[in-house]
Amino acid sequence: MSTTAVGSAATPGSAWAPWLQQQLQHLLAQRGHAWLLQGPSGLGQQALGLALARYWLCEDQQPAGACGTCASCKLVDAHTHPDLCVLMPETAMIALGWPLDESSQKKIDDKERKASREIRVEAMRGAVEFSQRTSARGRGKVLLVYPAERMNAVTANALLKTLEEPPGDVKFVLASEAAHQLLPTIRSRCLSHNMLWPVEAQSRQWLQEQGVDADTAAVLLRAAGGRPADVLAWTEDQVSARQWRQLPRALAQGDVQALAGRSPAQMLDVLIKLCHDWMALSSGAAPRFFDEADLPAAPALPALVTWSAELRKLLRHAEHPYNAGLLQETLVAQVHALCRQAGRSSPTRAKAA
Ligand SMILES: [Zn+2]
Repeated sequence: MSTTAVGSAATPGSAWAPWLQQQLQHLLAQRGHAWLLQGPSGLGQQALGLALARYWLCEDQQPAGACGTCASCKLVDAHTHPDLCVLMPETAMIALGWPLDESSQKKIDDKERKASREIRVEAMRGAVEFSQRTSARGRGKVLLVYPAERMNAVTANALLKTLEEPPGDVKFVLASEAAHQLLPTIRSRCLSHNMLWPVEAQSRQWLQEQGVDADTAAVLLRAAGGRPADVLAWTEDQVSARQWRQLPRALAQGDVQALAGRSPAQMLDVLIKLCHDWMALSSGAAPRFFDEADLPAAPALPALVTWSAELRKLLRHAEHPYNAGLLQETLVAQVHALCRQAGRSSPTRAKAA
């Protein structure tokens, strides 16, 4: 309701949410030509960054944000505004429907190379050129970088130079899910905004407005640790509440298919959450990500502690080109073995007692 009251005109994209609108108005009330929007994933920093860029370029700015109807807003929405440069890893550009430059697109189409998961040095060079050009529509230019932590040292230094000596009419929005990984000199050149966590009722309502049913919203919000944008992305990937609820038992039974279709990082995310909840149960606390009824008996705490450390070690390398199939089998086998040990040890304990 409040989302529609803001007007479809002001909402850049379907994932716009009331808590983002609130943050946008806070940002609009301040001056600043370079913002760093930071917080954990799933809080909407990319959407907020784009809304800010859209406002700056809008030809009929409204108190609540961009008008949504002027030529400029329409160009931003069509991802073709000449004064907006979006700098993202190619995988994110493709996923979010932003055009790549012709030569990169051709190389990927011709399978000469894969789409990059980093912000490429070549793309940054293009952005530096963009910042030196004259504004095409006379309202300045905006450079949006997301996720900003995906810049390597060369790329980050090129951005730093542009931030230090902005050619006049360029504004910057850096959106990050791991701002601690950015160069401190980049951080210090930007005004920083910490993304707000929406309250649960607000997240649930918003998810329902996006077409997610109430049960799914409740189960998956819990699974996502309260990050509504993650839930929406999952449902778009066909992850259902039922599937989430069945995961712990399927894993405990050694069902390799339980993790099918997930990236290494996503597989590890599931297992770290399962491990967390088992550890919580073992120490008498409530599970956080799964419902207690969906969790098989917890393996012994020392085994969980070892497992947790192994998972975190793997997570640090989750971007490596693992053989996903092999990793999936190994990870599921580990859970299966842990649960079998737990199954073997509990009757013995009962007998001894
Ligand atoms: Zn407009």
